[in-house]
Amino acid sequence: MNAARQEKIVIIEDEPDIVEVLAYNLSREGYNVLPAPDGETGWSLVSDERPDLVLLDLMLPGLDGLEVCRRLKGDRRTSSIPVIMVTAKGEESDVVLGLGVGADDYITKPFSPKELVARVKAVLRRGHGRLDDVTQESVDLDSLRIDPSRHQVTVDGSVVEFTRMEFRILHLLASDPGHVFSRQALLDHAAGPDAVVIDRSIDVHINAIRKKLGSLRDYVRTVRGVGYKFESKNA
Ligand code: CA
Repeated sequence: MNAARQEKIVIIEDEPDIVEVLAYNLSREGYNVLPAPDGETGWSLVSDERPDLVLLDLMLPGLDGLEVCRRLKGDRRTSSIPVIMVTAKGEESDVVLGLGVGADDYITKPFSPKELVARVKAVLRRGHGRLDDVTQESVDLDSLRIDPSRHQVTVDGSVVEFTRMEFRILHLLASDPGHVFSRQALLDHAAGPDAVVIDRSIDVHINAIRKKLGSLRDYVRTVRGVGYKFESKNA
C-alpha cells in the first residue's frame, strides 16, 4: 500500500464486535479507521475530520443512520463523502431507504472481510475517478455475454452494439446480480464523478440498454425510488 496519504474511514456503529471486525480488516489494508458508537458522535467526527469514506450502521442509538446520512448528504462540506450503509441481512426496505437518502452503497451483515474490503475499495475508486480498474471481469449469464477486454456484448449469440456509457452501466449491473445500484452510483461509474449529468439521464440509458437486450430486457430491473439491479431468470 502506498503510504503517501492514509485514507480516513469513519465507522459509525454501536455494536463493538462489528466495529472490531471492520476496524481490524480496514487497518490491515492501510486505512486510518476512526470509530464512533452513536449517530451524534459520528456526525461530529465526520464534519470535523472530513474522511474519505463513512461506514454507517442504520440502527443506532439516538440519531439513527438514515438521519446521519441525510445530514451528511445535505451539507455542502460533507455531501461528496461516500457512504456505505451496513444493514442487517434481508432488510431490503432499509437498503431502499438508505440509497434514497443518498448512500452510495451498502453491505449486509454478516459480511465477509473480503467482501467488505472489496466494497470499500470500489467506492473509494469511484470517488477518485479511477474507473478503469473497477471491473475487468467478463460476465457469462444465460445467453448474455459481456467481454470488457473487447468491449463486446453478445445476446443470444449475436453481437449487439452498445455505447460506452451503456456498456459500462450494463457491465456494472451484471457484475453484481441482485445488488441495487443507485442512479448516482451508476452515473459515477459510467461517466466519472466529475461529469455533469442529470440524475434522470440514467433512465434514458437504461431504456436503450433494455431495447438492445431484446429477450433479456427484463434482467434489468427497476427498484422504485432508488435505482436499478440486474437479475437473471435463474436468480
Ligand atoms: Ca446497530
